[in-house]
Amino acid sequence: MRAVSVDPDAIVVTSLLWRTTATAIRAGDEAMLIDSPYFPDELELLPTVLGQSGFEPSALLATHGDFDHLLGRLAFPELAVGVAQETAMRLRAEPGAAQRALRAADAEHYVDRLRPLSLGELQPLPVPGRLGLGEHELELHPAEGHTADGMGVLAPWLGVLVCGDYLSDVEIPMISPGGSIAAYRATLARLEPLVASAQTVVPGHGSPLDRDAALALLEQDGEYLDALERGEERPALPVERGSSRKRVIDAENLKELG
Ligand SMILES: [Zn+2]
Repeated sequence: MRAVSVDPDAIVVTSLLWRTTATAIRAGDEAMLIDSPYFPDELELLPTVLGQSGFEPSALLATHGDFDHLLGRLAFPELAVGVAQETAMRLRAEPGAAQRALRAADAEHYVDRLRPLSLGELQPLPVPGRLGLGEHELELHPAEGHTADGMGVLAPWLGVLVCGDYLSDVEIPMISPGGSIAAYRATLARLEPLVASAQTVVPGHGSPLDRDAALALLEQDGEYLDALERGEERPALPVERGSSRKRVIDAENLKELG
């Protein structure tokens, strides 16, 4: 697990699995944690790592309902998880799905986990909307297309945008069940002015990006969607996002359109 301060009031922790990010944002002495790392030892260390930098989250947020972003309560079992209304609906419609997906990933990676994941009482949040943090407000923006649900979280006073599974420098666009190219495109269009106004963009997987790097990825991702929509069997995949999962994701995307 790596921790990087992208601002005195924003710290990004990156999991060793899938480079999944968790971002803590602070206003005064209040903090929120968005998304989560994966491995049990990362989750166990998280309160200490954040605490050493003076971040003590009083609430958790998840950008969307995929299990890898929902593990915050394994680090902070007493905190509630705030999610977009769409995410709350999705999670209620498929009870136990996140837990099953977590168990499957754990089994695949031989990971032992002492505690089962309990999501507790989810706090559904209206998106678009605003959420008070100290004397400031986080902006919640719809971000669907990767899945049926999703929100991007902007801390306008810091210029930090946490966008969920978009604009990744390590993963190509992924259209999962429930997602769609049209919704993905709408999200990219919605994100563009937010990215243009931001100092730092934190994707769900990968590295915190500066504005220009994020805008370049946004353009590449649009081109990838164009190629996917044309039904190209092997669309030119955005360069440098080089993991072997790229072809797998690409094949899944084509199937999803099928
Ligand atoms: Zn993800």
